[in-house]
Parts: sequence; C-alpha cells; structure tokens
Amino acid sequence: MRDLRYLPKANLHLHLAGAMRPATLAELAARYGLAAPPPVALARSGHSWAAFQSRYDAARSVIRTAQDIARVVDEALADDAEDGCGWVELQVDPTGYARLVGGLEPVLEAVLAAAAGRAGVIVASSWARPPAHAERLARLAARYAPYGVVGFGLSNDERGARVADFAPAFRVAAEAGLLGTPHAGFYEPAWHVRDCVTLLGARRIGHGLTATLDSATLALLAERSVTLEICPTSYPPLGVAPDLSAVPVRALLAHGVPVALGTDDPLLFGAGLVEQYQIARDQLGCTDEELAALAAHSIAGSAAPAAVKARLLAGVRDWLAIEES
Ligand SMILES: [Zn+2]
Repeated sequence: MRDLRYLPKANLHLHLAGAMRPATLAELAARYGLAAPPPVALARSGHSWAAFQSRYDAARSVIRTAQDIARVVDEALADDAEDGCGWVELQVDPTGYARLVGGLEPVLEAVLAAAAGRAGVIVASSWARPPAHAERLARLAARYAPYGVVGFGLSNDERGARVADFAPAFRVAAEAGLLGTPHAGFYEPAWHVRDCVTLLGARRIGHGLTATLDSATLALLAERSVTLEICPTSYPPLGVAPDLSAVPVRALLAHGVPVALGTDDPLLFGAGLVEQYQIARDQLGCTDEELAALAAHSIAGSAAPAAVKARLLAGVRDWLAIEES
C-alpha cells in the first residue's frame, strides 16, 4: 500500500481560524479569558449552517493579535507539511479580525508575513455581506497581489445572495491576476456553480457538490478546467451528503472535472489532508491512479509558482512509480 503522506499535494481550501490546532484554541481562549468551543469535530449528522457558523465565530474570536495570526498560520503550514502538502492556499476574511488587530491591512499583512514563500493567501469576503464590501476586499486583495495574495473568494452560506451582484468584485480581482475561488453549490443547485463560472469567471469552486446533479454544469466545468475543491469531512455534518461514502469524487473525475481535496476547517471537522485522501481511498474506493490524479489536480489548479508545480507534479509521478509492497 503506497503511503499517502508521501504523495505530494496542495491544500487549496483551508480557512484561517478553522486551521487552528485544538491545543492552540484552548491556550488562546484561556489567555484571553474566553470560552472555547469544544475542540472536537461536529457530530456526524445534519447541523444547520448557523450552528456551524457560531462554532467558527467562537474559534475565530480567540485570534486577537498579529502574533496570534502568525502562530496559527505557522502551525497550520507545519501540519499540512506533515501530510505531504507542498503548497497551501490559506483563505482569510480579514473583516472578522480587523477591529482587534487594527484594520484590514494589518490582518492581511500578518497572514502574508507568516505565509511568505510557503503558501499563497486567498482573501475572501462573505456571500452574507453586501457586494460593496466584497469590492472593497477585492481591491485590498489586488493591492497585495505582489506580496502573496493569489486569489479572491466568497465564503459562507450562499443562499439569498445574487451571484451577478458580485461580478464587479471579481472583475477587480481578475484584473490584478488573482484566481476567482468562490464557495458555490453547497446548498443551492447546480445553476449556482454555473453562474459563478459564467458571471464571476471562477477558476475554482469551493465545494460545488450540487454540480454533480447536472450534466451541463459538469460539461462546463470539464471544458473550462474549473477545479472543484472537495472537502469530504465537511459534508455529512452539514447534511449536504448523507455520509462520507456518498461524496461524489469519482463521479466528478469520471466526467473530466478536476478535483482537489481540501480540509476546509480541520479544527471543526476533525480531519487533516491525509485523512481526506484516506477517505477517498477507503470510503470512495479511489485507486492509487485516481489518488495521484487528485493530487495532480490540486497542484495544477493552484497558484503555486511554476517551479513548485513542476517539482510537486514530478513527485506525484514518482509516488505512483513506487512498486507496491
Ligand atoms: Zn470553505
């Protein structure tokens, strides 16, 4: 059995607060006299988005200084490196930290300083905030493109927002050379994924599970090589997949859609990057060829420098060339 830790891969879907180690959450909460949410995975059954969001917000509230941000980034990158991850794209919505850290720029600068040379940073607004705020963050992201911002996204619950309203923000990001990486098609049907590709120019989609139910959307994703960032452990707890075995990774691959496995919020969902690949192997029946394809998609769909991509892709080929013992 080939060891999944030695398969080179990229983690393209990881949120800052959700990347925190449980011990760090407990330590920072104690330091600031805050109540930490229990540092365990959500129960494996249908939680509402609101229940998840309040958990995430409680975790985020213990990150209060630029030093805290640096520590969380540092530890997150070390944890992913342990899992054979050669490139990480860390997603941050600076809005939630700005008041305590002293503004949007200091938050982003703290993330960038800690990530420097080791990871790309994706600035994300929220579907739940006004489009004007997304434009403001897109302009911020564009200004910091020379310093390590590689993408612009939209996170949180997509229901109730009009996709077209966010087109100006994604235009600003695209003009700065940033990848558009919105969360999409988590709750809303396949049209939502399609609109994010056609109206926002998304090059990657966070989740996008509902695309699986519509052949025209699958064809669009395959034709434009739009990578879906699939994070298996996020779906059963929030009720968007009945269980891990129902996560449609192989169906997406069969339709020619690039799939990159990610971790989303290991703090809350309780699983790192190797575990996502282990689930693909054990629960979804992925062969080593398919696991290598997933790793290659994560690397190819990333914003890593060309030399990093070439080195990691060569490593994927080497991994597959190892004789199975
Ligand atoms: Zn996410």
